Amino acid sequence: MVNQRYCPFCKAPAAQHCAHLALAAEGRNFVRRCVEACHGQKQWEALCERRRRSQRLSGDWSPDKEDFVWLETAFCNEFLKHLTWFGGLDYEWRTNRGLDKGGFWVLLWSRNPQRLWWELRDEFERQTLGLPFLLQPEPPGQSTFNYRI
Ligand SMILES: [Zn+2]
Repeated sequence: MVNQRYCPFCKAPAAQHCAHLALAAEGRNFVRRCVEACHGQKQWEALCERRRRSQRLSGDWSPDKEDFVWLETAFCNEFLKHLTWFGGLDYEWRTNRGLDKGGFWVLLWSRNPQRLWWELRDEFERQTLGLPFLLQPEPPGQSTFNYRI
């Protein structure tokens, strides 16, 4: 494989999917896959909504500010890079089997992917709480999400 990447922890080729490969996804799917992997859809939507509202109200909104919802680099800068369990982001050119079509895949490394996902979900909540309350708060008792195992 051209441009093959190796795990920063155990040096296995990315194609082997060692235990440190938290995620391998096509670039355009990366953010969505991260949100799914950490089971943080609800937290993520709340955060996006809160951000939009607070930026619009403060007149600070611009399309650039929404890059994090789809662009893996912006998402990484805002939510992943400073996490304890973030191990690195890499790109690998991959081709679909049998198809003459390829694309860049984003590889997300972590020494412990499960902890990285927990941390990411915490981060969504932390950032949401850090924004001013502009929405009606959720009625108590609605969240049945089993947060910690
Ligand atoms: Zn590894």
